[in-house]
Amino acid sequence: MPDDTNEPASRHFIEQIIDADIASGKWGQPGDRSVVATRFPPEPNGYLHIGHAKAVNLSYGLAAQFGGRFMLRFDDTNPAKEEQEYVDSIIEDVRWLGAKWAGEVRFASDYFEQFYEWAQDLIKKGLAYVDEQSPEQMKQNRGDVTKPGVNSPFRDRPAEESLDLFAKMKAGAFKDGSMVLRAKIDMASPNMNLRDPVMYRVVNAKHHRTGSTWHIYPMYDWAHGLEDSIEGITHSICTLEFENHRPLYDWFIDAINKGRSEPIHHPQQIEFSRLEPTYIITSKRNLKLLVDDGHVMGWDDPRMPTVSGMRRRGFTPESLRAFAKATGVTKFKGAHDIGLLEAAVRDHLNIAAPRRMAVLDPVKVVITNWGEHGDSDRIEEFDAINNPNDEAAGTRKVAFSCELYIEREDFMEDPPKKFFRLGPGREVRLRYAYWVTCTDFVKDSGGNVTEIHCTYDPATKGGENPPPDADGNVRKVKGTIHWVSAHDAIDAEVRQIDRLFTVPHPAREPKDAPEGWSFMQNLNPDAMTVIGGAKVEPALASTEGEPTWPDGIRRFQFERMGYFCVDRDSAKEGRLIFNRTATLRDSWSKEQGK
Ligand code: ATP
Ligand code: MG
Repeated sequence: MPDDTNEPASRHFIEQIIDADIASGKWGQPGDRSVVATRFPPEPNGYLHIGHAKAVNLSYGLAAQFGGRFMLRFDDTNPAKEEQEYVDSIIEDVRWLGAKWAGEVRFASDYFEQFYEWAQDLIKKGLAYVDEQSPEQMKQNRGDVTKPGVNSPFRDRPAEESLDLFAKMKAGAFKDGSMVLRAKIDMASPNMNLRDPVMYRVVNAKHHRTGSTWHIYPMYDWAHGLEDSIEGITHSICTLEFENHRPLYDWFIDAINKGRSEPIHHPQQIEFSRLEPTYIITSKRNLKLLVDDGHVMGWDDPRMPTVSGMRRRGFTPESLRAFAKATGVTKFKGAHDIGLLEAAVRDHLNIAAPRRMAVLDPVKVVITNWGEHGDSDRIEEFDAINNPNDEAAGTRKVAFSCELYIEREDFMEDPPKKFFRLGPGREVRLRYAYWVTCTDFVKDSGGNVTEIHCTYDPATKGGENPPPDADGNVRKVKGTIHWVSAHDAIDAEVRQIDRLFTVPHPAREPKDAPEGWSFMQNLNPDAMTVIGGAKVEPALASTEGEPTWPDGIRRFQFERMGYFCVDRDSAKEGRLIFNRTATLRDSWSKEQGK
């Protein structure tokens, strides 16, 4: 299992920064590792996705590695888009990922009063002003990369006037968009973020926590560093798109500290490149579109790259951590092979998941000589190994009778030479049970095989090789296939989950894109194939002999078929429904000719 506290030999650039800070005593006594404080600051406007999982694992992992502190804080500064449902799901996801936060969950909205006081302080120091230009005027006067901006006519209004208007903005005296509070920095700065950025806007909307107390809401750049400061964060880790915002992050804290005898804490922002796995999208806005337009069953649809979707699909927190680690922590932009994620979950489940037999597309097999070697109704039991990678997982009984199911694709009427499974006159091993030879088969009027007739060899009991014949010849069999007995098999639904998109970069608009192009055109119509008539072994009806999964999700390897987990709909519907987590091998890259 991946270990967050395990320090690898080569340390990534953020670890190196923290190492140096600890050595120099930047945040406390030199050598004191416990001063490290990190946070995860989601905006509650959607469910967490795989990229967020990386951010959580990185920031929490660093706090854990150094013996410091990790905070979970909602950046709930935008009332229009935020909902309690998102807050609840994010808390559940962060907990599931294995991150442990210090104390209570925090909300930026808890600090609104403090932000407001600091904003008043900036106005008094002549570092902020209320601007009444229309949004269009403001945009026009901002200039662009080649052209400096133009100062607002309100820029030099007296502080008292701004203070008064600011108070009225707060109290709800003005319409949305009618005025803003801006920082007075530099309208000619080559960094557009420093051209008198907006600190507050008027929003007359109900907030999911503060209700209608506030009619102004802080902008991200103003609020974020202050949230970090209040919580004593040392290393505020974010993605590269905030690199150009760092001067502003620092400017705001310096502005508050200007003339203060006791300066507020000044955290350090550090940027790393976003996780961008191929074949998925990591934009909450676009994920929300998929949900709202009904392309998926919800945010936690097992096809979704959300944390809740991946959990429902059977991914483990360990596999997400391993993937986060495998993709590294760098400043290089680039896509990450989704195959690494699939490999990570295979690696974990190969060790942790018990084996079971499940026939997804069943065809009946009749053992025609069953009665010749005993009572024709008899049931024989065999021991099946639960997990070849974990001896302690033990064995279970599987029952064998004269009627079985095997996978339809394991039989061919006219097989080529290299086909080592069942065909007329061919012999295979039925795992754990017997060797059987196909003697005949039955077809329906549509030409579909409905029944396969076989004889079994009692000398191969348990699937063992039969003894040599009188001449000393050893009979061999190349294929081993899985099966379930018809008398006790359970019906199940299996959802074959595949990649959600058909192309590696689904959100990348092609150059010759037609009008109205959308990433939705790259959706994989076969991302979920529902198989209604699967037959699975009866052990799956109970949890006996299964490992205890901390999240309660039952995961398995269906022999030869892949990794599967029980979907949450099973309990609701009172029947077994499985989601395929991953195939046994990476068949995708071969199929796609990658
Ligand atoms: P989106 O653009 O999908 O809405 P976001 O960045 O706006 O995502 P936030 O809730 O603000 O979503 O993100 C919380 C934290 O997660 C931020 O620190 C952000 O940098 C980080 N994060 C978001 N997406 C990724 C990603 N793909 N890889 C790594 N970290 C990410
Ligand atoms: Mg964001």
